[in-house]
Amino acid sequence: MANIENSALFKISYGLFVVTSNNGTRDNGLIVNTVSQITDSPIRVAVAINKKNYSHDTIKETGKMNVCCLSVDAPFSVFETFGFKSGRDTNKFDGITPVRSENGLAVLPEFINGFISLEVESYIDIDSHGMFICTVSEAKTLSDKESMTYTYYQKNVKPKPETTKSKGYVCKICGYIYEGDPLPEDFICPWCKHGASDFEKIQ
Ligand code: FE
Repeated sequence: MANIENSALFKISYGLFVVTSNNGTRDNGLIVNTVSQITDSPIRVAVAINKKNYSHDTIKETGKMNVCCLSVDAPFSVFETFGFKSGRDTNKFDGITPVRSENGLAVLPEFINGFISLEVESYIDIDSHGMFICTVSEAKTLSDKESMTYTYYQKNVKPKPETTKSKGYVCKICGYIYEGDPLPEDFICPWCKHGASDFEKIQ
């Protein structure tokens, strides 16, 4: 067996982003923590997106996306809207009037401190996810608020689940509660799409 402590992986720090795209009919967006600048001359940015997310297919077809960098003032409702629903069957921009970047895609009107418009240069199939390697067509700073990190979200934004009333398993990523025992090994969280290994038993 490989000597792997999962907890060591949590030592990697991440930001949180709303990645927007448009399928030609409507705006869509999803929450990801997998955005990194990987080269600086020219600037390239890599974004990994789960293939189960509708945005994956839209971005693969259209070759463009916007990365909206969430700031610490983003409320939990932003994560509910963009993280726990599918753009396949819901309009996530219902009730939101987006700003437009030069590429025509949506930019969140609030709760972000900057955005980066990307054009896909290459695509790498990594089984469960697609990795988009992109060049930058536009980038703007919108405020000097601190960026939302994954740790900040876990500590300050995610509501504490009312696990005292529930039995079963809770998703450590988003707080979804599976009311049953045992948790199926191939269970996929319906909100955040993480697998059974990210669930813990409610004591
Ligand atoms: Fe989850």
